Amino acid sequence: MSGAGKVSLVGAGPGDPGLITAKGLALLQVADVVVHDRLIAEQLLTHVRPDALVINAGKRRGDHLMSQEEISALLVEHGTAGKRVVRLKGGDPFVFGRGGEEALALAAASVPFEVVPGVTSAIAAAAYAGIPVTQRKVAANFAVVTGSEDPSRAASGVDWDALARVDTLVVLMGVETLPSVVGALTTAGKPPDTPVCVVEWGSTPQQRSVSADLATVVERVADAGLRPPAVTIVGQVAAMRDELRWFDTSPLFGKRVLVTRTRQQASALSALLASRGAVPVELPVIAVEPLDSAATLDRALAEISAYQWLVFTSANGVGLFFDGLTARGLDARALGGVRLAVIGPGTARALQEHGIKDDFMPESYVAEALASGLAPLLSAGDRVLLPRAEGGRSVLIEELQKAGASVDEVLLYRARPGEDVAERAKDVFAEGVDAVTFASSSTVRGLVDALGGDPAAVNGCAVACIGPVTAETARGLGVRVDAVGEEYTIPGMVDALEGWFARQAS
Ligand code: SAH
Repeated sequence: MSGAGKVSLVGAGPGDPGLITAKGLALLQVADVVVHDRLIAEQLLTHVRPDALVINAGKRRGDHLMSQEEISALLVEHGTAGKRVVRLKGGDPFVFGRGGEEALALAAASVPFEVVPGVTSAIAAAAYAGIPVTQRKVAANFAVVTGSEDPSRAASGVDWDALARVDTLVVLMGVETLPSVVGALTTAGKPPDTPVCVVEWGSTPQQRSVSADLATVVERVADAGLRPPAVTIVGQVAAMRDELRWFDTSPLFGKRVLVTRTRQQASALSALLASRGAVPVELPVIAVEPLDSAATLDRALAEISAYQWLVFTSANGVGLFFDGLTARGLDARALGGVRLAVIGPGTARALQEHGIKDDFMPESYVAEALASGLAPLLSAGDRVLLPRAEGGRSVLIEELQKAGASVDEVLLYRARPGEDVAERAKDVFAEGVDAVTFASSSTVRGLVDALGGDPAAVNGCAVACIGPVTAETARGLGVRVDAVGEEYTIPGMVDALEGWFARQAS
């Protein structure tokens, strides 16, 4: 694209991919060029358009890291070329992120830019450790300082005497210089028994922390072997972690959880797992293979006004159906007055992406409930169009026919094995998996096939299924099922898995 180029300096948040802002995410999804730091949640990049240019500015190029001048020049270059550029920076772009320098370079080159603030690690790493940076009657102010300027050097330029008087002091980039920071604060009169907490990789599944006081923290951090990235919180609030610890006590914290959905569908589940502290391990055991449905789809669309209901049982089905409309130069208006039924909220959301609200969704998100809920809404002779995957369950069609409807199936796709799935499955299980998630029967079949028909590796893990039908498929293939969601949705499955781990721990 050319013309209206713009560079957006976007805060990626501290690590948990769910902590990017809605505005930042929207920009990331449409960007032509993404220039990102080293310290950003890897998973955020799954939202980038497949054809976008992605540049890791934190990676070694030949024999050197990209310099700040090179990064600024890159932003100016792509901005001038009319691209939509997202400069994705860890935490907040203007908090020790050198975002200010990049903005100055863009302003000097007259390249339009905007700043999308982010959740800074200074506050978020503390929060994820259970530490509020301010607290009534305890801390009425806080300061954020860089520890990268060694306080033991005379020319450090940081007024440590003043900082020693601040209620809560948060030090970024200060692991190596921790001894001199502690020394400077103690010399300035900060009491040695002041609580201190150092949080490494805050808000990620690797989060570790050390709680101590000014007198002991250096030794304790060395013993624990904490390394950057870490923030150090100095002040009475640091002691509140004892009571307010919440993230690293979550039952899923640090657990490696296998995500078996298609690559396109994995990210929502992965983000949800990451936000509970789990490590999502993506192994797409199936891929969507579109079938040649041109003729049946043409026929159905030609007489779409003769149908009373259009029924979708998967988000994939919605996506491919609308691709079919688009390919024919049509859009949602082609559907006229036909009513729409969906099997559950994921499918409903896929419809909403096309600006359409469903007319019916069952209380329970399985084919039986869809059929029995839809049946009373049908009159004899009604026609139902059912675009879905090959091998879908017959119960839906049979029940709707019993209710007097005639049902036309359009087979849009089939689930085929994911790429190199057998080899990757072996590697993944060898590295260690704590739990396996199945969001559909086809993923169960896909994984068990990939394992040569032997479910032993799966049975060595906790197993969660999205609903009773998937669980039945699993049991039929010799897979033990530990957790099934009360609500048959992705969040319902994650809740159930979390509950299972909680019960194991108690
Ligand atoms: N702009 C960023 C800070 C960049 S400087 C922000 O607003 O968060 C890099 C420093 O940030 C690291 O040395 C470390 O002190 C801190 N940091 C970044 N991510 C962190 C994380 N997940 N946990 C702890 N500290 C983190």
